[in-house]
Amino acid sequence: MRANPSIWNRDTLKAGLVIAGLLVPYHWYLVRWETLSGVTFTIFYSALLTLCLIATLAAAFSQSILFRLGCAVLFAASVLLVNSYQRVMDAPFFYVSFVNLFETASFTGDALEQFGGHILPPVVAALLIAAGVIVPPRPRAYRYRIARHVPAMAPVVAMALLATIVFARDGAGATGMPGTIVTGAYGAVMVTEKVLQLRHRREPVTLDHKPMARPADIVLIVDESVRGDYLDIGGGKIRSGLLNAAERPRPGVYNFGRAASAANCSAGTNITLRYGGTRVNYQRYIATKPTIWSYAKEAGYHTVYIDAQLTDGRLQNSMTKKDLKQIDEFIQFDHTPVVDRDEKIAELIAERTHNDVPEFIIANKIGAHFPVNDKYPESYTIYKPASPRGRLANVATNDRGTGVQRWDLYKNAYRNTLLWTVGHFMDTLFAGADLSNAIIVYTSDHGQNFHEDGSPGYATHCSQNPPPSEGTVAIAMMTKVPDIAVEAATWSRTDFGATSHFDIFPTLLDLMNYDADEVRLVYGPSLLEPTNDPLTFNARFSEFGGNPPYWVHIMPVTPTQNVSLR
Ligand SMILES: [Zn+2]
Repeated sequence: MRANPSIWNRDTLKAGLVIAGLLVPYHWYLVRWETLSGVTFTIFYSALLTLCLIATLAAAFSQSILFRLGCAVLFAASVLLVNSYQRVMDAPFFYVSFVNLFETASFTGDALEQFGGHILPPVVAALLIAAGVIVPPRPRAYRYRIARHVPAMAPVVAMALLATIVFARDGAGATGMPGTIVTGAYGAVMVTEKVLQLRHRREPVTLDHKPMARPADIVLIVDESVRGDYLDIGGGKIRSGLLNAAERPRPGVYNFGRAASAANCSAGTNITLRYGGTRVNYQRYIATKPTIWSYAKEAGYHTVYIDAQLTDGRLQNSMTKKDLKQIDEFIQFDHTPVVDRDEKIAELIAERTHNDVPEFIIANKIGAHFPVNDKYPESYTIYKPASPRGRLANVATNDRGTGVQRWDLYKNAYRNTLLWTVGHFMDTLFAGADLSNAIIVYTSDHGQNFHEDGSPGYATHCSQNPPPSEGTVAIAMMTKVPDIAVEAATWSRTDFGATSHFDIFPTLLDLMNYDADEVRLVYGPSLLEPTNDPLTFNARFSEFGGNPPYWVHIMPVTPTQNVSLR
């Protein structure tokens, strides 16, 4: 090798840029260090971190411009992703975070709009690293041929090692590692898990089913980000449209009050509602049991799936093309403004209760998904002052980001949104629906976090350490089908404030006339029997093996909230 008298050369510049970029999120390296207990773990983590840093540097010193360009793009994108996530969520980037991001990848455009000014440091980090990697290193002659391959091998080895750790530790172990290596490792784990899942075959429907003389429509309305404690049916102040002026349930409404969501992220809850499962066995059930669509088809229903959030046939919440095979009608509102889409759902469901086709319908509403600035018409500006309007009218849903100038203004916009997307929605539904021919179950996918505890960050849900409000939803049933109404009246009193999303799947099977005892044995209690729910939601939901659950209790439920008893 040629000796160079000065250390201030191109190579120093390269290394300097890369190291500077890697050090931008230094806070998260320290966070990981603080959580380590004992010398062994500290040494192990330090060694792993050093390896990842060196691997990144090594890649930068490849003599191949093509390889360096590829690395520059990959590293910059990964660092931008990981660092932005950590800043916006104010939480380490776990494997489950990666999976959640991946599942909501269809919202990347909205997310970019929302990230706003909070991603300046991640952008700087990404640019520094990309620049450092692209600058050509000084040519060097290698004494050993193998040395030539070190730059290309190093990041692969580091990613493989990290992936192995993440796999062995059920999704943990890679927080506080540089973004350059983490994303590749998580990607490898996810692909492996997906491939391993292929071994699972979904079981056929085996539960006993009795045909019904006159089956009614069964509808599951999944609202979006609607906190149960805000609605009047959950003891709050916002009119849900389900109670009358005297705050008593409207005729045909059976209120189960506050309930626990399955998860605090849309995907986790929607998956649970579609595949069933109890708190103990949800991962196995999600992988192997028949979908709710299969049960509905088997029971003779025409199956309808309405997704108001996405357009152009895009699927979300881990739904697959395979699921679509069991769905007779897949409805989205490509040409309807976001603010009017829930209204469309209400009209559509009402209409379907009048045709003579027994239908099973799941509807994912727009609801109050972040950002809510423009989710209600001007005339619904009841709570003031509210967040500024006019900029986010085309944003349906977005899991992360800002748009929050002040939480007090945002909460007013949220209240106005609920008046429109829940209160007015129900008015439309009740005006048009024939409840003597339908059984409707209403809930929201999860609650919301308005950072009332002073916690930093802008995330309204999907938090890793969520407050109780993030899993606090409400559950209500609406029907005038005589025998079901009698049962619902009884059980909505008995089970008031003691139900969760886990009770909904067995309820739907009960309503489809599957054998109630078998259903309970496999899926747990339905809403129409004693539920005794522990009122917890899973803040570390993973549909794959991976993360063990982390159960968080919802907001307290008191008998005085029971509007059915007033
Ligand atoms: Zn959601």
